[in-house]
Amino acid sequence: MKRLRTQVGIVGAGPAGLLLGRMLHLEGIDSIILENRTRDYVVGRVRAGVLEQGTVDLLHQVGLGERLQREGLRHCGIHLGFKRRRHRIPFDELTGGRSITVYGQNELVTDLIAARLGTEQPLYFDVRDVCVSGFDSAPRIAFHLADEECEIACDFIAGCDGGHGVCRPSMLATAAQVYEREYPFAWLGMLAGTPPSCEELVYALHDRGFALFSMRSPSITRLYLQCAPHEDIDDWSDARIWDELTERLETADGWRPNRGRILQKGITGMRSLVVEPMRCGRLFLAGDAAHIVPPTGAKGLNLAVADVQRLARALAKYYHNGREDLLDRYSDECLRRVWSVQRFSWWMTSMLHRVPDGSEFDYRRQLAELDYVTTSRAAMTCLAENYTGLPFDAEGLASKS
Ligand SMILES: Cc1cc2nc3c(=O)[nH]c(=O)nc-3n(C[C@H](O)[C@H](O)[C@H](O)COP(=O)(O)OP(=O)(O)OC[C@H]3O[C@@H](n4cnc5c(N)ncnc54)[C@H](O)[C@@H]3O)c2cc1C
Repeated sequence: MKRLRTQVGIVGAGPAGLLLGRMLHLEGIDSIILENRTRDYVVGRVRAGVLEQGTVDLLHQVGLGERLQREGLRHCGIHLGFKRRRHRIPFDELTGGRSITVYGQNELVTDLIAARLGTEQPLYFDVRDVCVSGFDSAPRIAFHLADEECEIACDFIAGCDGGHGVCRPSMLATAAQVYEREYPFAWLGMLAGTPPSCEELVYALHDRGFALFSMRSPSITRLYLQCAPHEDIDDWSDARIWDELTERLETADGWRPNRGRILQKGITGMRSLVVEPMRCGRLFLAGDAAHIVPPTGAKGLNLAVADVQRLARALAKYYHNGREDLLDRYSDECLRRVWSVQRFSWWMTSMLHRVPDGSEFDYRRQLAELDYVTTSRAAMTCLAENYTGLPFDAEGLASKS
């Protein structure tokens, strides 16, 4: 067996694990990152694309802002569409200049992997049989790399292995609790090789259900539509997808998404989930391993970044100052933000989706809510400040002082 030793063993090379590795490296703290997929798979995975202001600021602070600044699309608002009209919510005006940036998660992961590979810190792809243990006293991570049996001894384990990893179930074998909610609908998401026909995102509620117009670059449009959770993607021909999107998004002034070649499509179920607490001894969960939000509020990736920012700072205080108080507060402080974001994501989801057995009463109430949100400055401000992201902890990055 190959025996390895590090300070922090990180399971998962998604945004949470890679960013944690980056922040620890900047603090002079060693880590080993384990990922059970190949590098190509991780980089090619199309998921989130909206970065909150605080996420963008943090990426700049950790030296990952260059390509983001050049290629990211800064948006100062979104549109809400209903009754065949679009209504703009001007984030910058309502929040004192805050904005969001559209930059694909796969682009961010590409940057993070390149930054990691530029250091001596290990990142192993394609590992198998990862198993975490000993987190009450002497943490261990066992795994296979090629056919070799390996074990890492470490001070802490960061469970950043997403919604289907091994760290959450290991935590749940202890006293942790799960709070969850399934939604009776899913999103059909697709990527089209066509220039976006609107510069900002359009969230629409239609009699036939929700639709979202979004983009990844000046030549790639990203679109979503509400569908039933167990639908087969093969039942959705490209023509059917375009017809349905056009029907739900088109406005009376003639605006509609540009049609083009569909490059990728898939169906994802929607749920909310929170694990409490997010720590058990020396095992800390971060990102989707600890919580899942429905994507309507564009929060999953941003929430992962907020967790990591706290965890990196707490570990830095531990190693540089011998202080454990930030580690002790990690779970409570993260969960405060997690529940706030759960509330916002649930609210956006409830306002914009048609429930399969919902009544006409429900639909009319949703339309009345959209009418209020797009006409009351107070309601628009509430949406804008949550969408652009509540400020990260004022202490910012870890400091050695
Ligand atoms: C299919 C899908 C589509 C999404 N679309 C959107 C969207 O459109 N908009 C939006 O805002 N959010 C979206 N999200 C949410 C967003 O992508 C996540 O919140 C974000 O990826 C969280 O980052 P993470 O690093 O915590 O988890 P992940 O990105 O899931 O990373 C976890 C990593 O751990 C690895 N891993 C898993 N198990 C193991 C193991 N046993 N050993 C080692 N490694 C392991 C995984 O391969 C993965 O690379 C989507 C999520 C999914 C799953």
